[in-house]
Amino acid sequence: MRLILLGPPGVGKGTQARKLAEKYCIPQISTGDMLRDAFQKGHELGLKARSYMDSGKLVPDDVVIGIVEERLRMNDCESGWILDGFPRTIQQAGALDVMLKNNKSDIDHVLSLEVREDEVVKRISGRRSCESCQNTFNIYFSVPKMDGVCDSCGGRLIQRSDDKEETVRERMRVYRENTEPLIRYYQDRGILKSVNANGGIGGVFDLICSRL
Ligand code: AMP
Repeated sequence: MRLILLGPPGVGKGTQARKLAEKYCIPQISTGDMLRDAFQKGHELGLKARSYMDSGKLVPDDVVIGIVEERLRMNDCESGWILDGFPRTIQQAGALDVMLKNNKSDIDHVLSLEVREDEVVKRISGRRSCESCQNTFNIYFSVPKMDGVCDSCGGRLIQRSDDKEETVRERMRVYRENTEPLIRYYQDRGILKSVNANGGIGGVFDLICSRL
């Protein structure tokens, strides 16, 4: 199954993508995680991307398209994947279409996760992620057993530097301007399904599974 998750910052794409990856035994491909990982490892790509990420802007298309192209060529992508955070612009969507055409494959589903804005703010401000395994928690909804410690690997839980209020506002603006047009793009292709993502993690997951 080849699946794209669309939705504004804080809608829960990463959380749902991880659960879907586990259920369908296919990789979750998160461009945000890949860029953060490159930064943590001190790679040039990560260092370049950081200033865009910290100001809530999009990393240039050619950079992101390059890393996705490389990732989709890996063996574990043969039986499918879940793209989380890519594509984010019409140019990226076009580049993905070309990659898939060359590979004689296609997108099966695009899910647009939709959530109220007040809910988004709470999800983002409460979000904490493990600096070792990237697992995410929320101090309001998905509380770790021990304060500041990852339940899965014992790593330290941190708040993402781009989850500050000012940066979140910019990320929302960028989403509306650059990414929202993708809803229409995939609607016109007849592969878009909208999912009400206002509920809890388990409820939204069940809803997603029922749409696939
Ligand atoms: P995310 O973890 O998906 O919220 O992404 C965090 C940040 O990484 C975004 O605000 C962008 O700066 C950058 N980023 C992630 N994916 C992309 C993408 N597909 N295109 C451009 N920038 C991206």
